[in-house]
Amino acid sequence: MRAFNAVGGTPRFFRSGAGAWLTDADGNEYVDLVLSWGPLLLGHAHPEVQAAVQAAVARGTSFGAPTEPEVELAEEITARTPVERVRFVSSGTEATMSAIRLARGFTGRDVVVKFAGCYHGHVDALLASAGSGLATFAVPGTPGVPASSTELTIVLPYHDRAAVTAAFAEHGDRIACLVTEAAPGNMGVIEPEPGFNRFLAETCAAHGALFVSDEVMTGFRAARQGQWGRDGALEGWAPDLMTFGKVMGGGFPAAAFGGRADVMALLAPEGPVYQAGTLSGNPVATTAGLTTLRLATDEVYEHVGAAAQTVKDAASQALDAAGVPHVVSSAGTMFSIFLLDPAELATGAVRDFADASRTDARAYAALFHSMLDQGVYLPPSAYEAWFLSAAHDDRAVQAVVDALPAAARAAA
Ligand code: PLP
Repeated sequence: MRAFNAVGGTPRFFRSGAGAWLTDADGNEYVDLVLSWGPLLLGHAHPEVQAAVQAAVARGTSFGAPTEPEVELAEEITARTPVERVRFVSSGTEATMSAIRLARGFTGRDVVVKFAGCYHGHVDALLASAGSGLATFAVPGTPGVPASSTELTIVLPYHDRAAVTAAFAEHGDRIACLVTEAAPGNMGVIEPEPGFNRFLAETCAAHGALFVSDEVMTGFRAARQGQWGRDGALEGWAPDLMTFGKVMGGGFPAAAFGGRADVMALLAPEGPVYQAGTLSGNPVATTAGLTTLRLATDEVYEHVGAAAQTVKDAASQALDAAGVPHVVSSAGTMFSIFLLDPAELATGAVRDFADASRTDARAYAALFHSMLDQGVYLPPSAYEAWFLSAAHDDRAVQAVVDALPAAARAAA
């Protein structure tokens, strides 16, 4: 995506970032609505995060051994989520890969269920496209992934309860886990319908499978407690395993998975399920994440939510005025704008990958480039979330609002 392969044109090379703003190699400034694909909840180069990181670097960059910030970051994560124990890794990909291995080790089963359009990193078994029918095994989604890596993966349409029920009815005693984005953000943002995640958790429990909720994007971003704070916390249920990344690394490579203590106890060295990583729990990365989470107060989420609302409203108004059909789709403070006709959708809302795929990628590219020319860096793909930060003040938000009418006309 950073190569602008989805929108065309020459990718920008960035020199620096400060707050809501990026400066490219030619000295042009942009309001940033990508924020490194989500991690920078506080904006670029937050002074307190910078100071903590610089002090951590001065103490040495990696020890390959336990450190205090690692323990404190684990405590921050367990305080905000239902996970009882945490294991650190360096990327969201590793987090989901390890969670799936653990689920397989715990259940003694091999099959994994995922949803079309949900991205969980570049794990072979999850780079899978749906097979020829519902509840059939998947085919590799990219060259380089052997068929044997995806033949234990079932890919279903998001929000399709009947397909989930059928897959578990047919293969339930072989299913180790169902993994889903807690709120999809990688086919554009989709709000899970009320009760859908709970239905998934209950279906897994009824069949002795684990429910793995991927909060790499939504964790500490969609809301203070992630998407779980918007459903499980209110409804009184918890995933068996969760994965985290992005915001919890504060702009550094840190990610984690965690969950039920009895499941986590199977991880080596306590249990037999192997997992490791040279830079896991790296002290600089965990310091950045810890400092970020400590600064991510309720006020931060309120601010980011309000700024997001202003941008959504302005975008909708501008697109209406330009006659561009669209759907604004949000999960907490994250959102996407699908350039498609809501009348073509069964419920008027984008519910799955088939709906999301109706978005007009060419119109989005026109919108994107007009915004870029006016100094606003949107995600360079129609299928990504738009992110704001605590640093998006009135001036930054107004710059986005001012650019939208011309961009909407370009998309028309
Ligand atoms: N899971 C989700 C929901 C993601 O959005 C991503 C990355 O965008 C990943 C996993 C993979 O994380 P990483 O890119 O850190 O490997």
